[in-house]
Amino acid sequence: MKQGYETERAWIEVSLPNLRHNAHILQNLMPAGCELMAVVKCEAYGHGGVLTAKELERSGVGAFAVATVEEALRLRENGIRGEILILGYTDVRRAGDLYGYDLNQSVIGFEYAEALQKTAAHLGVTVRTHIKIDTGMHRLGIRAGNLSDVIRVFAMKNLEVCGMYTHLCCADSSAPEDIAFTKGQISSFYRLTDMLEREGVRLPKLHIQSSYGLLNYPRLKCDYVRAGIALYGVDSAPGTETVLKSQLRPVLSLKSRVVLIRDVKKGESVGYGRQFTAGRESRIAILPVGYGDGYPGDLSCGRGRVRIREYCAPVAGRVCMDQLAVDITEAETVKRGDTATLIGGEGMTDAPSIAAVSGRISNELLCRMGARLPVVPVG
Ligand SMILES: *Cc1c(COP(=O)(O)O)cnc(C)c1O
Repeated sequence: MKQGYETERAWIEVSLPNLRHNAHILQNLMPAGCELMAVVKCEAYGHGGVLTAKELERSGVGAFAVATVEEALRLRENGIRGEILILGYTDVRRAGDLYGYDLNQSVIGFEYAEALQKTAAHLGVTVRTHIKIDTGMHRLGIRAGNLSDVIRVFAMKNLEVCGMYTHLCCADSSAPEDIAFTKGQISSFYRLTDMLEREGVRLPKLHIQSSYGLLNYPRLKCDYVRAGIALYGVDSAPGTETVLKSQLRPVLSLKSRVVLIRDVKKGESVGYGRQFTAGRESRIAILPVGYGDGYPGDLSCGRGRVRIREYCAPVAGRVCMDQLAVDITEAETVKRGDTATLIGGEGMTDAPSIAAVSGRISNELLCRMGARLPVVPVG
């Protein structure tokens, strides 16, 4: 019989009310006429791609973005009916899937457009696309100054250009040189759209901002905002300042439970490499969760803390692949069976702080989460 999370050793809790709240907050921050495109790539940053997309679709979100064609297919196969944009590369031999599943494929370069056009023509189908414009990130896209190539893509018979977009590479920064760079990216995108209009091209849906693009450059007039991390309610890094203050709430928590409590004597060590040595008679709680579940090993040896009851107990010794130990000597009331929160909430267990311990951003921490953990929706 399938049990609830009561029998799980560790799990990811996803707060559906907080997810809906964040979507609503972001929609309210966007100018009229602009639509939220929920970025649900990489299992919705560890929140469960299908679960997240379904909940958002139920609450009125009509557009989604993923990184890969497989992610897109999984959403369609699970009943998602809204627009789906694939942000990354798809082999043009998948043109049949792009057409059959009604997906929008990013045009990542001019030669890519030519190849996709050729394959689509061969199959006798039309593929919906959004042209990616490179305005300075120099990752994907046709250079903004390359008007003639962009016009040629618009003219391709078997590509239906439904959108055109760019990506900002330092919109999260408040450093003056980064703000100047971002403004340059934005104006080169609009210079291109102006020139296209002058050439008689009917503009498709336009989009520029991701989460920090919206929070720092909220007045841009676009058709979509592609929001990921903000939708999940956490900053990329601790203490990030943004022009718009938002009341976003974290959606994900990583939880486990105390399955064993043991006493260790003064001088005894715990775990691999004997990295923790008890300086006193100590009580150690064992949690059956580890770096194999996405909890970073960098939090070993007291660099991470785990919330159990009202305590914030330090990680004792090294985080293992499947277990970790915490020092609960001072957490007197902790008992076997207690729930432990490893990621979630505020202070030392919030995602930005945990990510920062390993020199990473929340986005990376979250999307590494959950390769083998069940996702449990709550609320
Ligand atoms: C991942 C991604 C996003 C979402 O970024 P967030 O910072 O998480 O909001 C938006 N656009 C593109 C092109 C992306 O790759």
